[in-house]
Amino acid sequence: MIIVMKAGAPQEAIEEVERLIRETGYTPHKLAGEMKTVIAAVGDGRDKSRLESMESLAYVESVVPILKPFKLCSREVKKEDSIIDVEGVKIGGKHMVVMAGPCSVEGEEQIIGIAKDVKAAGAQILRGGAFKPRTSPYSFQGMEEEGLKLLQKAKKETGLPIVTEVMNPRDLDLIYKYSDILQIGARNMQNFSLLKLVGQTRKPVLLKRGLANTIQEWLMSAEYILSEGNRDVILCERGIRTFETATRNTLDLSAVPVLKELTHLPVIIDPSHGTGYWQYVASMSKASVACGADGLMIEVHNRPEAAYSDGAQSLKPKKFHRLMEELRPIALAVGRTI
Ligand code: PEP
Ligand code: MN
Repeated sequence: MIIVMKAGAPQEAIEEVERLIRETGYTPHKLAGEMKTVIAAVGDGRDKSRLESMESLAYVESVVPILKPFKLCSREVKKEDSIIDVEGVKIGGKHMVVMAGPCSVEGEEQIIGIAKDVKAAGAQILRGGAFKPRTSPYSFQGMEEEGLKLLQKAKKETGLPIVTEVMNPRDLDLIYKYSDILQIGARNMQNFSLLKLVGQTRKPVLLKRGLANTIQEWLMSAEYILSEGNRDVILCERGIRTFETATRNTLDLSAVPVLKELTHLPVIIDPSHGTGYWQYVASMSKASVACGADGLMIEVHNRPEAAYSDGAQSLKPKKFHRLMEELRPIALAVGRTI
């Protein structure tokens, strides 16, 4: 249920409502809007009528049910778009944010060189995997802590905040120290214990869509993070499994307008994993900008032919630079900047 407070409701009235929600066995989640405060009461549906009775309180405007199974990430609870601040970079606002970098951190020269290149092209966040979710146990698994240290070095050199993947709850504390956004990969989208743990932190989380998950399942996963107290979730569409084999995955761009209707969370697109081939990355990036995404995550490598992972879908810095130039007029045409 959502308890909508009247405009100008005093703090004591809000606290009284929160107390009553707890007394009914629900958890209150306060969302302070520009005009009104809204308190979402999340629970198992028992004693709902007691919540409804709160409409009789002086400072309560209305008590309305949340119809969707996802609550805190729903537009029903929060109408305005959420804007997530990552070290001063705002994700979800008018300005589109591009995260770029190699699939895997492979060495100092590689990551620092690419970081400088993507920054010069206009990227605002550096991506790079140190713990890699590989299909084969014999494939390169990532540089682990050594890789995290190199990402930190690249951040020091360029000022770019870092997004990197956390695969195992055991590594969370370590990755937390070195990263600015915690990436949950497609394969872990429904690792609920990992979602709860990152939900208990106060670092933004980039939640990639699972390989074969519906939008509703994806939002339920986001709900796991929000319900633990972390409101800073960025959704990332990265392609889903279909019968098509011409591309690595099928990039579901229709997820963008659907998500914009269902949730206030920012949505970014990863056309690199979405298509699997560098040749298709530019077109799908342009389409992502046009269809209302809040940003992009693009794999860039200085030597894709020698990359330890995902070389085939990585852009060379020069091509990435050109793409950024080509995206600008498209962003302007849809009322954004990039
Ligand atoms: C990645 O970003 O390198 C990655 C492994 O992505 P995904 O989880 O979408 O496959
Ligand atoms: Mn990759």
